[in-house]
Amino acid sequence: MKSYQLFNWKTKPRLVDVPQPTAGPNQVLVKVGGNGLCHSDLHAVDDLCCSPLHLDIELPMTLGHEVAGWVEAPGPGVRGLEIGLPCAITAVGCGQCVLCAQGWNNYCRSRAKQVGMGLDGGLSEYVVAPVGAIVPLHSLAPWQAAPLTDAGLSSYHAVKRVLPLLTPGSSVLVIGVGGLGHLAIAALKAMCAARVIAVDQRPQALELGISMGADLGMLTNDTTAQQILDATAGAGVQAVLDFVGVNSSIQLARQVIRPLGHIVVVGRGGGSIDFTPRGLPYGACISSSFGGSKLELMELLALAEAGRIACRIERHPLSQVDTVFDKLRRNEIIGRAVIVPDGH
Ligand SMILES: [Zn+2]
Ligand SMILES: [Zn+2]
Repeated sequence: MKSYQLFNWKTKPRLVDVPQPTAGPNQVLVKVGGNGLCHSDLHAVDDLCCSPLHLDIELPMTLGHEVAGWVEAPGPGVRGLEIGLPCAITAVGCGQCVLCAQGWNNYCRSRAKQVGMGLDGGLSEYVVAPVGAIVPLHSLAPWQAAPLTDAGLSSYHAVKRVLPLLTPGSSVLVIGVGGLGHLAIAALKAMCAARVIAVDQRPQALELGISMGADLGMLTNDTTAQQILDATAGAGVQAVLDFVGVNSSIQLARQVIRPLGHIVVVGRGGGSIDFTPRGLPYGACISSSFGGSKLELMELLALAEAGRIACRIERHPLSQVDTVFDKLRRNEIIGRAVIVPDGH
């Protein structure tokens, strides 16, 4: 089968022929129906070798951690998953720690290896996943569900963290309408009555934000903060979801957040903020966020299957994966690019 494998750190991965894997005990072989491309894949190639997130990853490794497909062969001891069942694949925690017991597998401290991050991933015709990572689909096609497992889940989790603040009459700012940001806008519109303000540097991305339901779209410039304050009668917003995470986006968030507001920085842009008690309005907080829980993925898939949220997707065959990654590197993907194995 064809797989897109990373052989050396900081070296372009290659599409190669490898033997089809088999599922071991408590594993499932999945025929890949779609795999979304993520900036984390680019980070994996460039930075993972030297980051604290390094999971003792052995190379070669097949990339791709936004995967959905169909159950091809349950391994020994796996029950209740029929062959042909459409399914999404999520990240799993250790299953033993307090955070996992609370359902926060995305914050598990043990950093178990995940499909596409330590285990061979979904940029392949087939992938093996731990049985606990399988989430059944109903009406959604695997290529539609794939980007929801990561881009969708990370934005949905960030939305849920600020949701209690977003009462009718409130406002929320989404910075960066990319693969994650456009789904955050859709989730916000599906789950609350807050006014959604979207900010991006790219006119096409703003158009996508408006099409997902944003009430107001603004191109980033020197007056963005003032425009947001004007649009909220000088009061600012109850919450900011920053999908960029550079110094200027965090600074924008700080300028427009209200007292008791919450800024969630999801983007890994390398920005920072100096904390002083007067650096933010009283009671406001800023936090990071990572992925989402398995339960939240189930909720998000239910929202998508009810027709309340859908990812903007461009589909490409596995043979084109190099070209599409180059497009992602140049920031030219509007929405999410999903790789579908040739002939599926
Ligand atoms: Zn990702
Ligand atoms: Zn755990």
